[in-house]
Amino acid sequence: MSDIVMSAVDVNVRFGGLRALADLDLEIRSGEVLGIVGPNGAGKSTLFNVLAGAIRPTSGRVLLQGRDITSSRADQRARMGISRTFQTVRPFLDETLVRNVAVAALAVGDGRAHAMDVAVDLLEQVGLADKAAARASELGHGERKRLELARALAVRPRVLMLDEVMAGLNPSEVREIVELIRSLCAASGSELVLIEHLLSAVRSLADRVVVLDAGRVLADGTPDDVFGDPKVIEAYLGT
Ligand code: ADP
Ligand code: MG
Repeated sequence: MSDIVMSAVDVNVRFGGLRALADLDLEIRSGEVLGIVGPNGAGKSTLFNVLAGAIRPTSGRVLLQGRDITSSRADQRARMGISRTFQTVRPFLDETLVRNVAVAALAVGDGRAHAMDVAVDLLEQVGLADKAAARASELGHGERKRLELARALAVRPRVLMLDEVMAGLNPSEVREIVELIRSLCAASGSELVLIEHLLSAVRSLADRVVVLDAGRVLADGTPDDVFGDPKVIEAYLGT
């Protein structure tokens, strides 16, 4: 029990007649990199929204270290160490990179000067130090993904959730971000939950993989077990 950091317990999310998540149970275990995969519309981003507090589940509970946080708001959860990126990146386009990241640090209570230091340090870590004074609007797609990563890290997360940070990147950018994520994980000791379409990246990064399909857990296990599972292959290729 003590190695479970966060969990969703019997979670349902309904959007009108649609069950985006159906009786979903999920555990995030201490120190792990958890990959979440599944076809489009499977409920992956909805699951992140529920864990991060962006949407309230229709029923069910979210626990953080055993404590019920189902009714805590997103900003409260950020201060508890739950951090996420958005599938559609949303930086403050007219602001500089350093301010984009500093704003996230300020939000968790860092003082101004410290927030700026944190931001400069993180931009260095994600390879954007030379653009710290540029506006976010000047960045290419891959750079925006790295900025998003720096913003998510600025809250010094316990649980970091990345929603398709590799989408739209070219192969060399993917290799860079995989290496970046790997080194960030090694350095932080945080839990990392990764939604990713790029299965090769999931395979190389994840300790455990959960496959969602139509709002339910279809499979849960090591990358080798899960990607060799006929019902998983069918969910991707079939019907
Ligand atoms: P995934 O991230 O796995 O592609 P999502 O969690 O984004 O899937 O969506 C799951 C299902 O819920 C989809 O059918 C999607 O259209 C629907 N959905 C997601 N968010 C909303 C919303 N805010 N309102 C209505 N339907 C939604
Ligand atoms: Mg999604």
